[in-house]
Amino acid sequence: MPGGAATPLVVADALVVTQDPARRVVRADVRVEDGRFVHVGAGAPREGAEVVDGRRFAVVPGFVNAHTHVAMAPLRGIADDVDLGGFLETLFRVDAKRAEADVEVGARAGVAEMLLGGTTSFLDLYYFEDAVARATESLGARGFLGWAVLDADKTTQHGVPLDNAASFLERWKGHATVEPLVAPQGVYVCSKETWLGARELAERHGTLLHYHLSETRREVHEHEAKSGRRPAAWLEEIGFLGPRQVAAHAVWLTGEEIAALGRRGVGIAHCPSSNLKLASGGVAPVVELQAAGATVGLGTDSVASNNSLSMLREMHVAGLVQKNQRWDASVLSAQQLLDLATVDGARILGRATELGSIEVGKRADFSLVRLDHPTLAPARPEAIVSHLAYAMSDEAIDSVFVDGRPVVRGRRLVRADWERIREDVERAAETLWAGRAPS
Ligand SMILES: [Zn+2]
Repeated sequence: MPGGAATPLVVADALVVTQDPARRVVRADVRVEDGRFVHVGAGAPREGAEVVDGRRFAVVPGFVNAHTHVAMAPLRGIADDVDLGGFLETLFRVDAKRAEADVEVGARAGVAEMLLGGTTSFLDLYYFEDAVARATESLGARGFLGWAVLDADKTTQHGVPLDNAASFLERWKGHATVEPLVAPQGVYVCSKETWLGARELAERHGTLLHYHLSETRREVHEHEAKSGRRPAAWLEEIGFLGPRQVAAHAVWLTGEEIAALGRRGVGIAHCPSSNLKLASGGVAPVVELQAAGATVGLGTDSVASNNSLSMLREMHVAGLVQKNQRWDASVLSAQQLLDLATVDGARILGRATELGSIEVGKRADFSLVRLDHPTLAPARPEAIVSHLAYAMSDEAIDSVFVDGRPVVRGRRLVRADWERIREDVERAAETLWAGRAPS
């Protein structure tokens, strides 16, 4: 984050949803200094701080969106009511014509939407990620940005995708709020050499790998026909699977594949809205993955397939789908849903000690939620986690902070003007939508 230290901040006498190991919800003061929480409890010192009356707010950890393509903002609604095959046909056609400038415009809109919805960290997969990184930095979010890697003969990127990813890592390595990483797109466009090259590159730079995995039956069947193995089993066989990886979707898995993902410590980004809307047919085995030792986070996927970046909406959908599918109302409780969106998301990003909860020493990424908003009534402390998981609207989020710096205040972006972003998106969409029909 550019600039000097932010003014210390005290949120006094607020309802704090700590997400600490005991999952305490407490009435407390929160003091933030030098980008971190330095006091959570009664009687926080107020010297030199801006003091916010917290009595009408809940303090909630910033959400972690574990899978998205944020720059696709101008494509919301462009390919509805078709399955993944039809969806990708349109999207590949439009994507091939994108320029770095409109990727940046899209990323600014996507990051703005996420910040206004209380998301402070996100895991992205796309190309022209420098543009996404610039948007992330200028609006003040925390980005884990994966450069899309695929076979050189299957891409519209200039040059070799793996080399492009390597240069991207070099350019953004060591940045305070942007972590560059490597993102093999999926088994349908990546050969064994590409997967292992990506793994080697990520290891060399000590960063994460992010990829799509077993999203549809078609993907699984086509890969099985080609290689003799289902995608996750094949990735295990070629020696790809390991820790510091986040696999998005993971819908169509066998028991053996679930065990392998758990054993290898692969993180999972569960994306229920996208799976439901594209009619992937199955439901990700979230409970079995967790039982096998895999940590599961929650992702929205892009606004072209979701069509929202709201993590509140995603928690709601995730809970309902698992309960109904399993005929068991007790699975994925409100508390577990909030865990997916906060501490578990932080864990799969390798940042469990830094992000995901309101605890002394952690980075101060959090939201102030209006307790007087209609979707939070009755605002009883014992119901706040339930409201977050099942009821609350993004509109209840008043302010958002990343690294202790305000990025949203009074529902307005602090570092950018939404009207300006909106005009740019409308202009970008004008061109992009013209390219959606087959030529
Ligand atoms: Zn995706």
